[in-house]
Amino acid sequence: MALFSHPEFDQHETVSYFHDAETGLHAIIAVHNTHLGKGLGGCRMWPYASEADALTDVLRLSRGMTYKAALAGLPQGGGKSVIIGDPRQDKTPALMRAMGRAVERMNGAYVVAEDSGTSVADIRIMAEETRHVGGLADAKSVAAGRTGDPSPATARGTFIGLQAAVRHQLGRDELKGLKVAIQGVGNVGYRLAKHLHEAGAQLWVTDLYAPAVERCVGELGATAVAMDEIHALDVDVFAPCALGAILNDVTIPQIKARVVAGAANNQLAVPVVHGAALSERGILYAPDYCINAGGIIDIYYEGPAYHAPIVEAHLQRIGETLTQIFERAARESRPTHEIADRMAEEIFRKA
Ligand code: NAD
Repeated sequence: MALFSHPEFDQHETVSYFHDAETGLHAIIAVHNTHLGKGLGGCRMWPYASEADALTDVLRLSRGMTYKAALAGLPQGGGKSVIIGDPRQDKTPALMRAMGRAVERMNGAYVVAEDSGTSVADIRIMAEETRHVGGLADAKSVAAGRTGDPSPATARGTFIGLQAAVRHQLGRDELKGLKVAIQGVGNVGYRLAKHLHEAGAQLWVTDLYAPAVERCVGELGATAVAMDEIHALDVDVFAPCALGAILNDVTIPQIKARVVAGAANNQLAVPVVHGAALSERGILYAPDYCINAGGIIDIYYEGPAYHAPIVEAHLQRIGETLTQIFERAARESRPTHEIADRMAEEIFRKA
C-alpha cells in the first residue's frame, strides 16, 4: 500500500505497522508531527473493511490531532492509532497488552488514550506495558475533581466557544432568550444543554435515543424536534453534537441559524466545499476541532497537579482563539475553517 503518495499522507513523521502473532494484533500507529511535543491521540478499534481503510483513518486522525493540540495551545503533537478488529468480539486483555507493547516501541513519540472502541479500562491494561498513556483518571486527579471522562470539559469548552461565536456574529453577550438547536444530547450535548439552560437560553433538541430527548424536555424545558428538522429550525445557533458530515449540500441551504457551533467532530462533509458554502451564506462556523478541544485540554492537566481553576482558565482560551479566527476570517474574507488550519500551521510549523 503506497504511503508517500497516499491522499491523506501529509508529511507524517512516522507510520508503523504492528503485528503480534500470539494475540493476532494488527495495528497501525501514525505520528503526524512532534514539533510541539509528543504525539497524543486515541486508539480506535474498529472492524475496518480493509487495511487501506485503516491506514486512511489513522493518517487523517493523527493529522487532525496536531492541528487540534496546536490551536488549543498545548505543548503536544498529533498521533493516533488503530487496531483492526471488532471491539465487541476481538478485544481481550492480552490484545490490549500487545497494543501497550506496540506503543512502548514508539519510545514516547506517541502517547495513547481512549477512542471509539477502547475505554479507560483498556488504556489501563496497555499501561501495564508502557508509560506512554494519557487520560487514565489517576487517583490524584480524581481527588482534585476530575472524573476521568473528558465530556464535561468538552461541553464546557463548547459552551465558551458558542458564547464567543454569538458575541462576534450577533453582537450579544447575554445568552438569555438565545434560541439554540442541539443535534445529539449524549455525553457532550446534554451537558452543553445544561450550561445553555443555566444561562437562560431556549432549547430545541433531537436525538436517536428517545430517553436522551425526554431528559432535556423534563429537566431543561427543551422542545423535542424530529431528527431531520433540527438543522433547519429558525433559531440563532445550530449546535451539532452527534455525528460528522452534518454540514453538507443538503443541510447548508436549509440552515436558518446565523451561527453553527457544536462539539461534533468533522462537521464539514467536504471542508473546502462546505466551509466556503457556510461562509457564502453568511453563517458563522466555529471550527469543530477548535471548539471541541476541552477534552484534550482536560487530559493534559491530569496528574498530581490537577487543579480545576487552571483547567477552566485554559478552557476560556477556546473562546479567545475562536474570536481571533472569526476576526481574521472577516479581515481576509476567508472561511473560518481555513483560517483555523492556517493558524494551527503557523503554530506547529514555527515550533
Ligand atoms: P455520545 O455518543 O454520548 O452522544 C452522541 C448522541 O448523538 C447520542 O445520544 C446519539 O444517540 C445521538 N445521535 C447519533 N446519531 C444521531 C442523529 N442522526 N441525529 C440525532 N442524534 C444522533 O457522544 P459524545 O461523547 O457526546 O460526543 C458527541 C460528538 O462530539 C461526537 O461527534 C464526538 O466525536 C464529539 N466529541 C466528543 C468529545 C468528548 O469529550 N466526548 C470530545 C471531542 C469531540
